[in-house]
Amino acid sequence: MSEEVNLFHETAFKQFKKAADLCQLNSTVREILSQPKNELIVNFPVRMDNGEHALFKGYRIQHNNVLGPYKGGVRFHPMVTLDELKAFAAWMTWKTALMGLPFGGAKGGIKFDPKKHSTDELRRITRRFLYALEGNIGPDYDIPAPDVGTNAQIMDWMMDTYIATHDSRDREVEKGVVTGKSIECGGSEGREKATGQGLVHVLEEWMRNHGRSLKDTTYFLQGFGNVAYFTAILLHEQGAKLLAVNTSTGTTFNKNGIDPVNLLNHYKSKEKVKDYPHGETISKDDFFSIQADVFIPAAIENEINEVTAPLIQTPLVVEGANGPTTMEGEEILKKKGVEILPDILASSGGVTVSYFEWLQNKRSEHWELEEVDRLLKGKMQKAYARVKQAKEEYKTDFRTAAYIVALKLIETVYSRRGIFP
Ligand code: GLU
Repeated sequence: MSEEVNLFHETAFKQFKKAADLCQLNSTVREILSQPKNELIVNFPVRMDNGEHALFKGYRIQHNNVLGPYKGGVRFHPMVTLDELKAFAAWMTWKTALMGLPFGGAKGGIKFDPKKHSTDELRRITRRFLYALEGNIGPDYDIPAPDVGTNAQIMDWMMDTYIATHDSRDREVEKGVVTGKSIECGGSEGREKATGQGLVHVLEEWMRNHGRSLKDTTYFLQGFGNVAYFTAILLHEQGAKLLAVNTSTGTTFNKNGIDPVNLLNHYKSKEKVKDYPHGETISKDDFFSIQADVFIPAAIENEINEVTAPLIQTPLVVEGANGPTTMEGEEILKKKGVEILPDILASSGGVTVSYFEWLQNKRSEHWELEEVDRLLKGKMQKAYARVKQAKEEYKTDFRTAAYIVALKLIETVYSRRGIFP
C-alpha cells in the first residue's frame, strides 16, 4: 500500500482508516478511495457593482462515482480550502453509499464571504462559477446542491445558467443539474427542512432503542442556519426542550426552554443570538458544559476538539454539521462514554431529499410533502438499522459502523464491476 497519509484532511482520513482497517477493506479499493478522482480549480473574473472586476477562486472536488453521478453541495465561505473540500467530498461518498442512493460524492465552493456582496454581485459570481465549471457538471454527471453560505436562490441561478448554456431541447431534464432549488423552479417539497428532518428521525430511532421518546428531552444546539433551525423547529413540535443556541457571535441560554420560531424572528432582524431578550448570554465554555440529554453541533467543522470535548456532559452528541468532531475530541468523548450519531448518518436527510428532487426532475413530477416525508423517514430508519447492525457485528462505535456500511457496499460494487481495463 503506497502513502495514504494526508491525502485529505486529518479527521476525515483517520476516520476512513479506522473503518477500513476494521472491515479489512480491499487494498485497491482503499487506495482508490484515499484520493478524489478529480480536483478542479477555476479562477474567474466577475464584474463588481463599482464597475471593476475581481478574480474569484472556485473548486469542485469529485471524490468517487462508482455508485452513480457525483453529488454534493457548494459552499460560499471565506475559509474554503482545497484540503477541506476533499474531506467534504469524501464524506458525501460515504453518505450517499450509506443511504443507498445511486450517487457518488463531491463538494465545491468559492473562497469568499457572500455577506459582503450585493444580490447582483452574488448572482454574477454564481453564474460565472457555473460557467467556469463547463462540462464538469451535469444532471447525470455531477449534481451540486446547497451547503454553508448557499441556498435555493443560488441553486436557481446555477440551474438557469446551465440550461442557458446547454442544448435547449433538454431543458426539462436539465433542471436536475442542481438540487435544493426553490419549489417554483423545480425544487422538492420538504428539501429545505430535509437535513433537520433526517437528523430528528435518527435521534428518534436512538431514543426508541433506549426506551425513551423526544418528549421532554433537553438539548442544546450549535449553529442557527438551515440545519440547526429546522432541527429545532421539528424537535419543538415533538416536545423536546431547547436550552441554548451558540453561533459565531455568541450564545443564548434559558433553562426553561427557548422557542425556536421566536428566536428566528429575532435572528432574522439581523440581531445576534446572544442578545435574544428571552435568554441570558453565557460564555462558549459554559455552553459546552450545559447539563442536558443531547448536544447537537449543527454549524461548522472541528468544534468538538481536545479543548471543548472535556467540557461536554451529555450522554449523546448528534452531528448535524459535517465533520464537527476531531479525532482527539472523539477519543475524549469515547472515554467519557458519550455516544455520537455521526454526520454521515445524521446529516444525510438533505442529500436524500436531493435524490427525490432529482428523480422528480427526471420524470417531470411534483411529489406531495407527505410522500417526501414518508420516503425520507423510511430511508433514515433503514440506514440507522444498517448502522446499528454493523455496530453490533464489528463491536464498534456508530461512526465506524456507518463507514463500514458505506465502504462494504462500494467494495462490493468494485469487485463485481472489476477495474477497467
Ligand atoms: N450539502 C448537503 C450535505 O452536505 C447536501 C448535499 C446534497 O444535497 O447534494 O449533505
